[in-house]
Amino acid sequence: MGTWNRVISRADGQRVVVAFGAMYISLALGWTLLEIGNGTHPWDVVVDSLLIAGPGFVLLYSGHRLPRFGILPEFHDSIAGWCLGGFGVMFGVLTLYSLQPGELVNDPSTILILTALASVAGLAVGINDAVAKTRARELEQRNRELKGTQSELEETVARLEEANARLETSNERLEHAQEYTNRVLDAVHDIFYVLETDGALQRWNESLREVTGYTDAEIASMNAPEFIADDDRGMIDDAMAEGFETGSLQFEAKLLTKAGERIPYEFAASALETPDGEPVLAGIGRDVSERKAHERELEARAHQQQVVADLGQLALETDDLDELMHEASRQVAAVLDNDYCKVLDLDAGREELLLRQGVGWADGLVGEETISAVEADSQAAYTLASDRPVVVEDLETETRFSGPDLLRSHDVRSGISTIIGPVSEPWGILGTHDTEPETFSEEDVNFVQSVANVLAEAIERQQYQTELEALIADLEQSNERLEQFAYAASHDLQEPLRMVSSYLRLLERRYEDALDEEGEEFLAYAVDGADRMREMIDGLLAYSRVETRGDELEPVDLEGVLDDVLADLQLQLEESDAEVTVGSLPRVEGDASQLRQVFQNLLSNAIEYSGDEPPRIHVSAERDGSYWTVSVADEGIGIAPDDQEQIFDVFQRLHSREKHAGAGIGLALCERIIERHGGEIWVDSEPGEGSIFSFTVPAVTTGLDDRVSDDSETIQ
Ligand code: ADP
Repeated sequence: MGTWNRVISRADGQRVVVAFGAMYISLALGWTLLEIGNGTHPWDVVVDSLLIAGPGFVLLYSGHRLPRFGILPEFHDSIAGWCLGGFGVMFGVLTLYSLQPGELVNDPSTILILTALASVAGLAVGINDAVAKTRARELEQRNRELKGTQSELEETVARLEEANARLETSNERLEHAQEYTNRVLDAVHDIFYVLETDGALQRWNESLREVTGYTDAEIASMNAPEFIADDDRGMIDDAMAEGFETGSLQFEAKLLTKAGERIPYEFAASALETPDGEPVLAGIGRDVSERKAHERELEARAHQQQVVADLGQLALETDDLDELMHEASRQVAAVLDNDYCKVLDLDAGREELLLRQGVGWADGLVGEETISAVEADSQAAYTLASDRPVVVEDLETETRFSGPDLLRSHDVRSGISTIIGPVSEPWGILGTHDTEPETFSEEDVNFVQSVANVLAEAIERQQYQTELEALIADLEQSNERLEQFAYAASHDLQEPLRMVSSYLRLLERRYEDALDEEGEEFLAYAVDGADRMREMIDGLLAYSRVETRGDELEPVDLEGVLDDVLADLQLQLEESDAEVTVGSLPRVEGDASQLRQVFQNLLSNAIEYSGDEPPRIHVSAERDGSYWTVSVADEGIGIAPDDQEQIFDVFQRLHSREKHAGAGIGLALCERIIERHGGEIWVDSEPGEGSIFSFTVPAVTTGLDDRVSDDSETIQ
């Protein structure tokens, strides 16, 4: 059978069936031709041929159509096998039949017809078998596929279960994380919140409940603005809108608790998106009441300092002590929010205090009311005996004192009072009082003390000022008296001196021959003495007239003044072969004739004390703020440092009259003139190196260019 099948398989089952069919058709044709040739009745021939060719056609057609029967090609061979089997069985049956004695199938057409039919029968069985096998094979295939799908399904289920398990684990973790986050948020002292766009709270922490006093259910039903105090509520809508727009929110507002308490809070939040894509603002709110209180405290301190500074400034600007005391009382009462404040002035006998200035007191008391400075039961007396400010928190429970009447009659309950001036020698008391019991901070006490110190300084300054003014008035008076005396003395001395001089000259003229040499010498001494005395008296007279006989100060052209002086000194300059160079000199505010005197004295000295060389003098000026510094420099004998101050004193000279003539009043006069101009005069000098005499005079204030010319000129 195996060999048989292999043969068929090699020939291809389908082809075998087709060939079988074709064979029978060919045999039918052949048989027809043969029988017609043998003269067999055509009908018989046709029947036989059809019986042979019919199955042939069936085989041929079926074989040809075999692929369309839905049979797997691998079973085509089996079909061919069955077909050939049918043929073989029929052939075997016929052979066996022929073996029976007397029975012989010798008609070839019968053999052909029967075998053809048997082949067709075999084909039918084969097709059926093949169809059954194909179905079975398909079922198997399907079964296998199903099994595959099932295992895949099982695998998927297993994976799903695994994933599920993992999901459950991560879910658990998530829950733990969520719980942990909640615990963390609850542990935070700040308020945590998540706001939706309509202002509803999506999440919050325990702090919100604790601070506001609302339950979770209440919070869930509320909107963000309901947690904010009325006056700040307006800003929250804007802040939220801005928060959603810009991504962050920050504002300060008062949180309103269920109990109506208003707590300053600072809110900050950032915009986020929930997993559902909903925009929210998540953030915190922080209690800033302590910070605010601290800020208020700092502001109050700064304000107090400002008030002290302003009062200090006022103290410098005003001479009116009462104005200062009133302003101090007003400011202290305002800063400490007290009803009353007062400045008490202690009398010389330390018996009474006058209510000198104050605010809040009943009409007519300020400037009139007095308080005992010694009464045992009085805060004022107690304060005078204390070396530090006295603070009263409640006068009703106060044990140290209960008065004075002024406080009792004004329902005073609390206050601070402190000494104005040194504790050992108080000037008075500064006291601030309120009708409510109150606790005062150390800063408040320091503030009151600072104001008292400002008052003390102002009072002290004014006392000094008064003393100083009295002293100045005394000095001026005595100066005036001295001036009058000097003037009168020098003026009145002139007359007898003139008499002495004229009689001496008369004596000299008339009795010249009668006198011996010694007598002449004595007379010459007397004349010289009288001349010197006249010179001194003239100088003294000029000196005493500087203040009283001076002209008004007005713009003076120094170059013009110097030119006049140089003209006056022409002879001396020529005789000494002096060279004077002059820088550009300004117009100054001064008395022309007195300034002329100054130049005259300085130039004369520069010529006089030039030493052996011809005088070399330079006059110049330099601007120094609102003054001009004018200098007269020479290259003369100079002055030793120790002598430089005394040369400006009256009648002070460094040389004998024989060596250098002079009365010793020139520089004293210069100093007095320059002082009258509000300036100073000094000398810079080294012996042998020359001297520079400098003085300052006020510049002209008109704004015009006060420098006459920039050229330097030399006069010989
Ligand atoms: P006197 O009439 O003696 O010059 P002054 O008051 O003008 O009086 O001068 C006082 C003294 O200052 C002079 O005696 C002289 O010794 C000294 N002195 C003044 N000017 C100069 C100078 N340019 N150089 C050196 N010494 C001077």
